[in-house]
Amino acid sequence: MSRPLRVAIVGAGPSGMYAAGHLLEGPGGTYVDGHLTSLVDQPVEVDVFDRLPTQWGLVRHGVAPDHPEKKLAQTVFEHIAARPGFRFFGNIEIGNHVRPQELSQWYDAVVYAVGASGDTAMGIPGEDLHGCLAARVFVAWYNGHPDYRDIEVDLSHERVVVIGNGNVALDVARILTTPIALLERTDIADHALEALRNSKVREVMLLGRRAHFHGAFNNPELEELGVLDGVDIIVEHGDLPDNHEAVLGELDATTRRKLATLETYANRPLAGHDKRIVLRFLTSPIEVLGEQRVAGLLVSRNHLERDDSGRLHVRPTSEEAVIDTGLVLRAIGYCGVPLPGLPFDERFGIIPNVEGRVRGMPATYVTGWIKRGPRGIIGTNKKCARDTVRALLADARSDTLPNTGTLIGTDVDRILRQRQPHLIDQLGWLHIDDKERAAGRAAGRPRIKITEIDQLVAAATGEPAIPANHG
Ligand code: NAP
Repeated sequence: MSRPLRVAIVGAGPSGMYAAGHLLEGPGGTYVDGHLTSLVDQPVEVDVFDRLPTQWGLVRHGVAPDHPEKKLAQTVFEHIAARPGFRFFGNIEIGNHVRPQELSQWYDAVVYAVGASGDTAMGIPGEDLHGCLAARVFVAWYNGHPDYRDIEVDLSHERVVVIGNGNVALDVARILTTPIALLERTDIADHALEALRNSKVREVMLLGRRAHFHGAFNNPELEELGVLDGVDIIVEHGDLPDNHEAVLGELDATTRRKLATLETYANRPLAGHDKRIVLRFLTSPIEVLGEQRVAGLLVSRNHLERDDSGRLHVRPTSEEAVIDTGLVLRAIGYCGVPLPGLPFDERFGIIPNVEGRVRGMPATYVTGWIKRGPRGIIGTNKKCARDTVRALLADARSDTLPNTGTLIGTDVDRILRQRQPHLIDQLGWLHIDDKERAAGRAAGRPRIKITEIDQLVAAATGEPAIPANHG
């Protein structure tokens, strides 16, 4: 038998795990153009690296805790991790414990599946004030990401303003208004649960700079808002332009469904609930107001206008207003960040690539958000990873992977453990997972997340049980 093809994958999130799955195909192969096809005709070994001691990336730290069905992908990842040839090296940071150049020397091929860990700025005055946060940070906080567990989230003001009309904006609005008794049954981080229990927030206002039929959210997520217990939904500036028949005629079926949902909300009487979500459209943020902390948001009204060729544009008006708020969350998109030693396209926040092959770097590949930008649902990463793996295996078959001196698996393991005594391997992660689930079972929850690196490392040894108030 030929020597195995050895591949490193950087990032244990959905795109990295799906790439590992395609490389370590189970029985039956992978769907290509509607047919089950085996991509792999030689033994493959895959080492998945992650900077955190935990796996599953945004499935653990991005998906909203009240969306357990969206976390079912973790079962697929568990099966992938159980396949022969899979190893996990957690708590290892590429660029710190290992240089990218070393990875390229140690392996036949390296796949970067590092996601988009930055966020887009609004570019308006006051954005850096305390109380103006990226929604990405807020999401990571309530999901127990160790880097964000200690950030300050001020829920003492009655109104939170969320900028943006995507699914992240809706996730955030839901978590801020969902009855605490429901959140208590999820895997939301304990520190967030405590803060939300004491929250004074009564209104979440979502601002869309364009019209209601331009919303980036999906209809199922929009419909979920309407069934939130104890929450009124208010639609503002959702009026269509004068020639609205022409506008409606241009809309696709998906957009029409969203519009119908919004119309239902706009037309139904308010129940006078204690909490409300306001969907305000055609409104742009102009300045975050305040001295040290956010005290308000200056916004301007936009309107729709057709040009001579009939194209519809969103134009600013001179109408301005101040919205009273103490917390502004900008949910205007994630953004990739550069990795040392790899090219980076600042404009799109991605590693420049052709079908997953990193430009100018042989045997180096990308998949997921760092390949194509921060768009799509978890499942989108499955096909994305498959395309990258196809490119990688085609290169392996045509002998265009330059390396001949790769390290064997035991050598990699030895070097890594010398450099990081707190390396978390697959067994360590399974211990963490077991302990979190056991703590959850005792409390009627899916899991209770451990949110501190030291405690994750301790849990990985399989020795001490999780302390009752592990945070
Ligand atoms: P997104 O879908 O790209 O939405 C970004 C929103 O921000 C848009 O409404 C955009 O408006 C607005 N925006 C951008 N720049 C702005 C600015 N300077 N001022 C005001 N508004 C601005 O991003 P996302 O919500 O972060 O979601 C990222 C991806 O994850 C999406 O593909 C999403 O579907 C996915 N996701 C899915 C789920 C789910 O399946 N439940 C949950 C979370 C995330 P314009 O349209 O005018 O540009």
